[in-house]
Order: sequence, then structure tokens, then C-alpha cells
Amino acid sequence: MALIMCPECGKDVSDKAHVCPNCGFPIAMEKNAKIETNLSREDLIQIASSEIERKQFNEAIKSLSMIMDPDAEVFELLADAYFCDGEELHCDFDKSIEYYQKAIDYLKCSQVISIELMCLYLKIGFAYSTRARDVFDMEMAVSFAARVAEIDSENEQAKANLASVYWQYCQKMLNRELEVYDLDLAKEYLDIATEYATSSEEILSAIAESYSNLSYAYSKHENRKPDLSDEMECSQKALSLAPNDKDYKKSLKLIYNLNAMNYFVGNGVEVDLLKSKHYFKKTLEFDKNNQEIIRRIILINNYLGIVCCPRCGSENVKHKSTPKKQRNQSFSYSITRTIANIVSDSLTNAQKSETIEDFYVCEDCGFEVRQ
Ligand SMILES: [Zn+2]
Ligand SMILES: [Zn+2]
Repeated sequence: MALIMCPECGKDVSDKAHVCPNCGFPIAMEKNAKIETNLSREDLIQIASSEIERKQFNEAIKSLSMIMDPDAEVFELLADAYFCDGEELHCDFDKSIEYYQKAIDYLKCSQVISIELMCLYLKIGFAYSTRARDVFDMEMAVSFAARVAEIDSENEQAKANLASVYWQYCQKMLNRELEVYDLDLAKEYLDIATEYATSSEEILSAIAESYSNLSYAYSKHENRKPDLSDEMECSQKALSLAPNDKDYKKSLKLIYNLNAMNYFVGNGVEVDLLKSKHYFKKTLEFDKNNQEIIRRIILINNYLGIVCCPRCGSENVKHKSTPKKQRNQSFSYSITRTIANIVSDSLTNAQKSETIEDFYVCEDCGFEVRQ
């Protein structure tokens, strides 16, 4: 009985074995295939590439295993095949990452072609970010995506990879899949993800959802800030990334309204009517005709002695005073007239000024307030 090396795990295996006792690799099939194949290296690569394209990943792995002295290209194809387009059920991330690393090492030993190396960094970065099981992988993914950025700072794919890594880190933390549970750190990572996700709609909406989840997590946190600033910030960011999302609008409105009420009655915070009014107005932006809120704004204004429209609460009111100018105009004009005219004019003006009303007009809703 002779010992041969298992092409899969590298351990010594009997040449009589059908499968490797260590990793279960089908040795017999491998041997037969190697004996049977008369295909050239180029043919096998060709076949494997098209098998990967047709998502026949196992077939591709078989074809590639027949190649003696694999180089970077073969390692990369093997890695692609094990990655299986990142489909959770089928892919073998560890193997995939291992072969990407082999390809990278191979390229590094030979003359480094930066474009090819960059592609490999991208792929391994993506493999890590897809796997993303623990912090270690996150760090690896970041470091690989960052290497691409060193070669090509404008690489959109590298940016998208980085964004997805940071986003996943935050999401895992919120799902309590990590040992760390630090909402501020999660927020920091989401901010970074947003910066990198400049062009990818898909990741941007995922980030928005995470901000929304994070806002909720802050609202349930034992160290929730009484001014609700954290959850407010996250809700604002979610909405700014997805401005038409009804749920994000609704939750931000609720936060504004809660903050307004807290400052109104001094719940957890000192009573602050200006802040309360500010947040009632913010609430009103989402719910233009909410009479309840308008009433509160008017109440605060009345209490503070601020003139406002009694219909919409707006402070944008213009005082329409008695037309003083008119009287002056007519007076200067009347200088050229006879004294009798002056007397008669000033008499009529005096009569006019008595009939003119003092009133306010709301610039926002047009409501006129007679006094
Ligand atoms: Zn084995
Ligand atoms: Zn008004």
C-alpha cells in the first residue's frame, strides 16, 4: 500500500482509499479522472470557467483538481467555485478564502501585476464580507478592501465592499451576534458605511434600515439620553437616505412629538418652552393640519408673549398699521394747495385715520387678525 497526498487537505492517504479519511475528498474519482483525462491544462481551465458560469461549481472544482501545478489563475477559479456566488447554502467560505489567499501569495511571488492583484483583493474582501461571522473577518475584509483603495482610490467596487463590511458589522451588533454591544460604535460604523456607499442604491437602503433599527435600539437602551438626541439623529439619517419611506417619517415624527411633550411638561428634562415649540413645529412638518399641535404652539406663543397667527400658529405675521404714509403724502401734496384745501384735506385724513383698522396678516396662511 502506497501513500499519496490528498489533493484537498494535503494529508497522506492510502492509494487504495476511495475517499480521504480526513476530509472526505473522493480520491478514487480523482485518480480516475486524472488518469482518464487527456485534456490539456488550457482545456481544463476553459471547462472549469464555463462550469462556474453555469453555476456547476462542484463540476468546476473536479475539473480544476485535475490540473497539476496550479498557478494563480487556477487558485482563483477554485476560490470562485468554492464561493458559489456567495450563496449561503452551497458555498465554502473558508476554502474560498484560502484559495484566494493562495492566488494572492502566488502573484506576490511572481511579478506583481497590480490589476490582477486588485481583482483578487476585491474578491477576497467580498468573500470575507459575505462570510462576516466575527470581528476577525470584518477586520480582514476591511484590510483587503483598503488595499484595493491603495491601488485604485476611485474603485467603486472596493468602496461598495467597504460599505457592506461596516454595515454588516453594525447589523450583527444590533442582532447581538457579536460579543460587543456598543450602540455608539454601531453608529460610527454606519456613518463610515454611508460615506463609502456613495453609488450603491441597494446598500444605501440597507444602511437606512440599520439606522432605523439603531434608533429603536437607542430608545430601548438603559442609558437612553433624556433629550432623545441619539435616536433622533439615527432616525433623521434613515430618512435622509430614504426620503420617501413612510415608516421612517412616522418614527421621526413620533420622536419629535415625544421630545416636544417632554420639554412641555418637564418629563426627564427641564421645562423649556422654546425647545418644546421647536419640536412641535418639527412634528407639524409631517402632519401639517394637526390642530392639537397647532393649539400647543399657539399656547406656548401666548404664554411667552409672542405674536402669532391664531389659525396656524405661525409667527410670520405682518402688522398692517394705519396708512401714516398716505397722510404724509397727501400733506406734502397739499402744500401746493390753498390753505382751505389743506384744512379740508387734514380734516378728511383725520376722519380716514379714525376708520382705518389696525390688523395683522399671517404670511403663511393669509389669515387676517382684526384687533
Ligand atoms: Zn483529505
Ligand atoms: Zn396663519
